[in-house]
Amino acid sequence: MKRVTILGATGSVGTSSLDVIEREPDAFEVVALTANCDVARLAAAAIRTRARLAVVADPACLAPLREVLAGSGVEARAGADAVCEAARMDTDWTMAAIVGTAGLKPVMAALEAGGTVALANKESLVSAGDVMTAAARAAGTTLLPVDSEHNAVFQCLDRTAPDRVRRIILTASGGPFRTTSLDDMRAITPAQAVAHPNWSMGAKISVDSATLMNKGLELIEAFHLFPVRADQLDVVVHPQSVVHSMVEYVDGSTLAQLGPPDMRVPIAYALAWPDRMETPCERLDLPRIGRLDFEAPDYVRFPALKLAREALAAGGARPAILNAANEVAVAAFLAGAVKFLEIAAIVSDTLGRYDPPAPDSLDAVLAIDAEARARAAERVKDCVF
Ligand code: NDP
Repeated sequence: MKRVTILGATGSVGTSSLDVIEREPDAFEVVALTANCDVARLAAAAIRTRARLAVVADPACLAPLREVLAGSGVEARAGADAVCEAARMDTDWTMAAIVGTAGLKPVMAALEAGGTVALANKESLVSAGDVMTAAARAAGTTLLPVDSEHNAVFQCLDRTAPDRVRRIILTASGGPFRTTSLDDMRAITPAQAVAHPNWSMGAKISVDSATLMNKGLELIEAFHLFPVRADQLDVVVHPQSVVHSMVEYVDGSTLAQLGPPDMRVPIAYALAWPDRMETPCERLDLPRIGRLDFEAPDYVRFPALKLAREALAAGGARPAILNAANEVAVAAFLAGAVKFLEIAAIVSDTLGRYDPPAPDSLDAVLAIDAEARARAAERVKDCVF
């Protein structure tokens, strides 16, 4: 039995992870499940899977969690520290699927604890890539990418010959506004932005996909996961989301991983690796799909991608500032406080006004994150529409 913990068990990736795990009850033993405050979903999953521990990050949610779990045998805990303690518990496999910077400390705790960490929380590698990968190396932790693009690259990468890789090409669906004019983009609403054409995901990553910031964050994530330089990372827009990413070799061969747009495929790969396991996912019907299109990204309508590329090239604290400002701007957009095109403008402005030295520890990253958030929040307040 593989002992598994899911951090962010109530979210989109967390729920898909539970779906894969619960189909093979003899193969997996659930140790801990965490959420922020979705007590109903967390408690139901913990009872179903007979988890040892259920944790809510928000202490105000402990009483209702205890009430629902009473008599179930599942222990209830609360608080950010309790989430990190859950991440440190002795398991074989931990899914890191908390959204945003809130995931940084729990991811670090899981990496330091050893075993295998399946990483969905891309923000932790974007903000603290050097610190996180060093911690994983020091603890001998296996870090497996769950983001569908990085999982695809991982499947295509010949680890015996990293110097024979010429390029890593991440595919981007282009999001819901791939063909929308810049003029029409001024009036985009949160409801339109979260309606991704191919993937069903949480609100934050859906908005990131709509601005293409998600692809920018993924470039930075790829830089930390794979042995390539920043200038070996490329993006191509592929509206059908069938090819999940590609690796081009020096001899002209390009290997691609294809699959349905269903996160259970990369999650299952990370769960079973180096083996494979069954999933109920729809199979690719290529004659029905008919054609696969590719186009270059438009950096004018999607400036967030350019900002992320520049942050990657500059390195140091830039990616952490980019990520923090983006989280603030996306939250403000979802709350109706700023317009869609202001998201990239807020990120750009924050990057332009804050340039601290490179962080050398998680605490230094978190301090930069906090300052960048404060500056981005000031900029949000200045937005008058
Ligand atoms: P969701 O918003 O659907 O879920 C987020 C999860 O994090 C929930 O379990 C939520 O709990 C928990 N959470 C939120 N805030 C906190 C906090 N302060 N402390 C502890 N837990 C918290 O996100 P997704 O599943 O879409 O995304 C998760 C991560 O995976 C992101 O980093 C995203 O970029 C990445 N990712 C997602 C993909 C997808 O298809 N969705 C694809 C590839 C990567 P609660 O429900 O209680 O709020």
